[in-house]
Amino acid sequence: MEHKVIALPKLNNLAPTMESTALKLMEEAGELAQAIGKFRGLSGEVTQIEEKEVMRMITRELLDVAQTAVSMMYVLEEYYNVDIGLMLEEHIQKLMDKGYLSK
Ligand SMILES: [Mg+2]
Repeated sequence: MEHKVIALPKLNNLAPTMESTALKLMEEAGELAQAIGKFRGLSGEVTQIEEKEVMRMITRELLDVAQTAVSMMYVLEEYYNVDIGLMLEEHIQKLMDKGYLSK
């Protein structure tokens, strides 16, 4: 099983809540969609930006999505006693059960 391990920090200058991180996640997902739309010319505007730069924009937004998702995990652990490690095991099992992943 191939893994990509990405460690993202707990932001210590913010006081995120479940609601604020959930909203932020949707906002960042929108920005990711916007960046991809730009790359594919979906907005109707002619893009003069080089592919390499567009890929950087897309990746930046994807990392924002990941950071926000991880921030929400910290909130769930800290304020709602969620065991992310346990839930992660359940998640992997679900992927296997669905046939998306094999050992
Ligand atoms: Mg963003």
